[in-house]
Amino acid sequence: RIVYVHGQFIPEEEARIGLFDRGFLFGDAVYEVTAVIGGRMIDNDLHLGRLCRSLKELAIPLALSLEQIAGIQAELIARNDLRDGTVYLQVSRGEADRDFLYSEALAPKLVGFTQAKMLSGTRAQRDGIAVDLADDPRWKRRDIKTAMLLGQVMAKQAARARGFDDVWLVENGLVTEGASSTAHVITAEGHILTRAASHVTLPGCTQRALAKLCAAEGLQIVERAFAPGEAQAAAEAFQTSASSLVTPVVRIGVRLVGNGRPGPMTRKLQALYLEAAGIAH
Ligand code: PLP
Repeated sequence: RIVYVHGQFIPEEEARIGLFDRGFLFGDAVYEVTAVIGGRMIDNDLHLGRLCRSLKELAIPLALSLEQIAGIQAELIARNDLRDGTVYLQVSRGEADRDFLYSEALAPKLVGFTQAKMLSGTRAQRDGIAVDLADDPRWKRRDIKTAMLLGQVMAKQAARARGFDDVWLVENGLVTEGASSTAHVITAEGHILTRAASHVTLPGCTQRALAKLCAAEGLQIVERAFAPGEAQAAAEAFQTSASSLVTPVVRIGVRLVGNGRPGPMTRKLQALYLEAAGIAH
């Protein structure tokens, strides 16, 4: 692969990150993942908008315009001949001798790479997935997309060891979100429930794009939190993310959702999203 490190496109074997990079030492870095389908980036404006917001919240002064960043992403896709997969960007605060406090004069470091994989038409999207339920172990500013992901790593690894495909996280008796996705359920009345934006969850770009499509179709999205029991008893459930698009959830913990197969509304939302992304399905 050709990767991007601090202003240069180089083979991945030649990439070097400094020992004193704050992303490495403190997780003092933010990231974004954009889906690439048929060589095109999906919802990238939303991802770059969220990247800017994350940088602002942490006061990381990246001196690049959105056009320049999008140009780097496009060049990564072109140089790697990427048709289907993801393009990853990470901005660290910069390098300095180890100290919790940082100088505002640090130069942020941008790195990027691509990962090739099929995102649409996967088994998970066809048949749905089983998600475990676990206590949300993360910090209180989950609206910032930081590279500090150990909570998610531990929760996903534990869910996998218990035979699940993924995990939904729970706090104060309510589902916050998936470990790397936005969680949704569909009620018997056909309302799509998703949690309102707050510091408790990461605002999903895929969710935002889907909400716009739903509004145009007259489908109702209700922004409210739901308990694990309500999710298990829902008519349908699904999760969204850049790398999993719209993925049906057919089992939550020990309970099947509906009849244990992807439901008709979820199928409709999958089709809406793929159509908007210009993908034949
Ligand atoms: N929530 C968390 C914790 C995530 O890590 C992600 C994506 O990785 C999402 C939600 C979904 O966000 P998006 O649709 O922008 O990929």
